[in-house]
Amino acid sequence: MKTVLITGANRGIGLEFVRQYAAEGWRVLACARHPEKAGELQTLANQQPEQTKIHTLDVADHRRIDELGQSLSGESIDLLLNNAGIYAEAHRSGIFRSEDYEAWMRTFLVNTMATLKMAQTFTSQIARSDQKKIVTISSKMGSIEDNDGGGSYMYRSSKAAVNMVVKSLSIDLKQARVIAVVLHPGWVKTDMGGPNALISPVQSVSGMRQVIDRLTLKDSGRFIEYDGKPVPW
Ligand code: NDP
Repeated sequence: MKTVLITGANRGIGLEFVRQYAAEGWRVLACARHPEKAGELQTLANQQPEQTKIHTLDVADHRRIDELGQSLSGESIDLLLNNAGIYAEAHRSGIFRSEDYEAWMRTFLVNTMATLKMAQTFTSQIARSDQKKIVTISSKMGSIEDNDGGGSYMYRSSKAAVNMVVKSLSIDLKQARVIAVVLHPGWVKTDMGGPNALISPVQSVSGMRQVIDRLTLKDSGRFIEYDGKPVPW
């Protein structure tokens, strides 16, 4: 049985990943900041108690990541899905205000640093698995070439930075034959994407699962859209 560890698994894209991987027969280690409030995730886990396990994890909390790493030290993890993310900006355009710098740091902790910390913590469990994949959900908003709208300083910079983190990981983990990529999930109808987004979580996650399934070492270090198209850096 293959195993996936998913962060931010209680709603939106993360919850849909849990649904689809569990339906495919994977073991799912579903991480959420507040499992007690994650009603839908709990229902899923109760339906398949052997298959889907919930773990408490705030990805900004490095001590907690270490604890989880220790408690899962005997596992082999085929796929680490760094999905948790925040869009902290109150306004999408314009230069932000001075009080926003705290929020910017928080955005970097969650959207950027957590990816490296998770990868560091779980590398040995991933390297001993069959699939050996680290997939980070980034965003086209982190693409420098694609930025023709300006604004969104915190989010854009945090995603551009996580792209670089993953590129370096892909090089540093090549010897261990671990594949590391960043994906753009599309513009998805979730709390973050909003109701005007173009695709449903089901469409986005089905597409990303196909992309993930086909990844080989040659793809490591790539930035790919949910439909398989390359995203410009
Ligand atoms: P949602 O806002 O719907 O969900 C975000 C998830 O991340 C929630 O489960 C949330 O948990 C979790 N999360 C936030 N902060 C933390 C933290 N510190 N520790 C652990 N979990 C945390 O967003 P989406 O599902 O839409 O987004 C998922 C990913 O996809 C993100 O990385 C986002 O940037 C990316 N993305 C989304 C797009 C879209 O159109 N929706 C477009 C491009 C990229 P909690 O409920 O506790 O807050």
